[in-house]
Amino acid sequence: MISPEMMDELTMKDGSLRSFSYVGGYPIFYLCTQDGVMCPECATEFLAEGETLSAAEVNWESMMFCERCDEEIESAYEVPEDEDIF
Ligand SMILES: [Zn+2]
Repeated sequence: MISPEMMDELTMKDGSLRSFSYVGGYPIFYLCTQDGVMCPECATEFLAEGETLSAAEVNWESMMFCERCDEEIESAYEVPEDEDIF
């Protein structure tokens, strides 16, 4: 679970979740309770539906896709081309 303090930090004035970290401006992705990866837009909708998110993390350099909209989640650094995709 994301702590209420963390949630405050992640929620912007318009009620949507941050796409980039407050410190450093790194791309953030969200994990839903079933450990599905979600982009900030989908995570915002997910919360609006009364669901809860289990975590918010910075995507440093992984290739990952949103479970809901299949959009690629931005990474802070280039994904190494020879990296194995799990
Ligand atoms: Zn999405």
